[in-house]
Amino acid sequence: MDAQIEGILKHQLHDRRDRLQAAIPLAPDPAPLVNLLQEVDDALERMNRGSYGLCVICNDPVEERRLLVDPLLRNCLDHLTSEQQRALEQDLELAWRLQRELLPRADLDLPAWEIGYHYEPVGPVSGDYCDVIPLPDGGIFFALGDVSGKGIASSMMMSHLHAIFRSLGGLGLPLDEMMGRANRVFCESTTPAFFATLVCGRADRSGEVETCNAGHLPALWVRHEQVTRLEASGLPLGLFCNSSYSTEKVGVARGDLLFLYTDGLSEARNPVAGEYGVERIATLASAHRLDAPRAVVGACLDDLARFLAGAPRTDDLAVLALRRRDSLGSA
Ligand SMILES: [Zn+2]
Repeated sequence: MDAQIEGILKHQLHDRRDRLQAAIPLAPDPAPLVNLLQEVDDALERMNRGSYGLCVICNDPVEERRLLVDPLLRNCLDHLTSEQQRALEQDLELAWRLQRELLPRADLDLPAWEIGYHYEPVGPVSGDYCDVIPLPDGGIFFALGDVSGKGIASSMMMSHLHAIFRSLGGLGLPLDEMMGRANRVFCESTTPAFFATLVCGRADRSGEVETCNAGHLPALWVRHEQVTRLEASGLPLGLFCNSSYSTEKVGVARGDLLFLYTDGLSEARNPVAGEYGVERIATLASAHRLDAPRAVVGACLDDLARFLAGAPRTDDLAVLALRRRDSLGSA
């Protein structure tokens, strides 16, 4: 163990020892504190003998970052006790519950647009991003993206993206400028290992939709039987702080469908049939273009399950379908 880190840990252990010794005479039930004091003394004893920081199961070093949080740890990550494992699972479950809270509300009622989406992590939490923000003029801002990597770190960057777009979304900035700012904020607050591909857009009540695709897979615009791919025109967010973004405007007619997805769909693999592919998504979206967005998403998931035929998914999955309403209803 690094001498400096050992010095910090030793200081922490002595500090805890002092606090426990002061607390024990005052505690109504001192037994748990006495046990804790014994653990601290054992740790200091191991430090003197040179065996501190080694896993009791495999004798490999316990991760230093974890020791800095809890200097009494005696198991490496590969050999957690069942109690530690349960605590970790509970943490992950809580993280997923928080992440789900960041998704668009299921009962989101929008005057001019109907939406359906599906969001599913491959592990405990997801690095995909999916959001729909109602705008004061009756339009919406929508975004679907994918942070590089998977797991906890990607999910943290996903919640960061969510916060960036939630705060920039209401400022009424032109879309290209908003993307430039979002990129800068994301870039300055992450390590070069992380970037995010993203397709987003602002859709107004009249059907005018301005989109921007930052290195993401093509969004699909389905009108009648024709499917137009809205391709990437900019770099992913977070690669270079000064990237600029161009946007594309399309006029979406009543009943037209917009379909967005992450590579958890397009790059899903069946060992025999290969990759699911954008073409199959386009065919499916076109075949279901008259269905409600939720039904289109449902049909897509059914088709993916048929395609996978029991093969496991290996990536986070997010799908978002938007349809311009046939009538504006009561609004
Ligand atoms: Zn171990």
